[in-house]
Amino acid sequence: MIKTVGVVGAGQMGNGIAHVCAVAGYTVKLVDLSQEQLDKAIDLIGRNLGRQQKKGNLTEDEVKAAMARISTSTTTAFPDADLVIEAATEDESIKKKIFAAVCATLKPDAILCTNTSSISVTRLGATTDRPGRFMGMHFMNPVPVMQLVELIRGIATDEETFRKVHEFTGRIGKTAVSAEDFPAFIVNRILLPMINEAVYTLYEGVGSVTSIDNALRLGANHPMGPLELADFIGLDTCLAIMHVLHEGLADTKYRPCPLLVKYVEAGWLGRKTGRGFYDYSGEKPVPTR
Ligand code: NAD
Repeated sequence: MIKTVGVVGAGQMGNGIAHVCAVAGYTVKLVDLSQEQLDKAIDLIGRNLGRQQKKGNLTEDEVKAAMARISTSTTTAFPDADLVIEAATEDESIKKKIFAAVCATLKPDAILCTNTSSISVTRLGATTDRPGRFMGMHFMNPVPVMQLVELIRGIATDEETFRKVHEFTGRIGKTAVSAEDFPAFIVNRILLPMINEAVYTLYEGVGSVTSIDNALRLGANHPMGPLELADFIGLDTCLAIMHVLHEGLADTKYRPCPLLVKYVEAGWLGRKTGRGFYDYSGEKPVPTR
C-alpha cells in the first residue's frame, strides 16, 4: 500500500503534486536542487491551502496537518517512499540522472512515475532498474484545481503497477484516464493542434484575435478562447509540443504555424512575458492583432 510519496522537482507542477498528496493524507518528501526553490514551493503551497480554507474546502486543522506532512530536502534519496513522482525540468538527460539517483535509494518494490508531457515513458523506464514498476502520471496545471491525471503505461509497465497508481490517483481526489505511450498522449494531442489551427486562422487573416477567441467561446462553448489559452500555457511550450507531434508522428498536419514560431522568436511567450496574442501590461489584456 502507498503511504509515503516522494516528489522530485518543486516547480509549478511539483509543488501542486506535493500539495494534493499531503491533503489526501500521504507523507510527502519534496526534493529540488536548492533550498531557496523548496522554500518558495512551501510558501506557495501554504498560500494555495489558505485559499482553499477561505473557500471553506478545508478547515484550519486540515491545512496545518497537510503542511506538517511535507518535508523538503536537496538530497535525491527516498529510502522510505512507496511511490516517487518525478516532476523536474522537461529534459531527458536531467530526468535520467534523477532516476539513477532515485533508484539507488529506493525500496525494491517501490513505484517510480514521471510527469513528463512529451518524452517517451517506455524510453525513460528502460533506463531504470524497474521498467515494470515505472509509468507516466501526467498531471494538469494547476494541479490542485484540475481534475484529470493521464496514466501512461510504458510497454514494460506491469498491471499491478498500473492498478496501484490508478487507485492512488483516486485517493488524491483526481480522475484518471488511461493513455497509450504515443507523442503528447491524449489531452495535448487534441488540444495543441486546435491551438495551432487557431494561430493559422489568425495568420491567414480569417479572423482577428478577438473574433477567433469569441468564436470558440460562444460558438463551441469553450471556457477560454484558443489564443487566450495559448498565452496561458506559454507559446514556447505550445511550440515545443507541436514539434514533438510533428517529429514523433511524422505527419505534416502537425506543422507548427510560422506565426507561432515568430512569436516565440520575438520572446512573446504569453502571460509569463507580458505579451503574446494579448498585451498584459495594462489592467485588462488587449489583443495584439
Ligand atoms: P518548472 O521549471 O516549474 O520546475 C522544474 C523544477 O525541477 C525546478 O524547480 C528545478 O529546479 C527542478 N529540478 C531540475 N533538475 C533537478 C534535479 N536534478 N533534481 C531535483 N530537482 C530538479 O517545470 P514544471 O512546469 O513544473 O514542469 C515539470 C515537469 O512537469 C516537466 O516534465 C513538464 O513537462 C511536466 N508538466 C508540465 C506542465 C505545465 O503545464 N507546466 C503540465 C504537465 C506536465
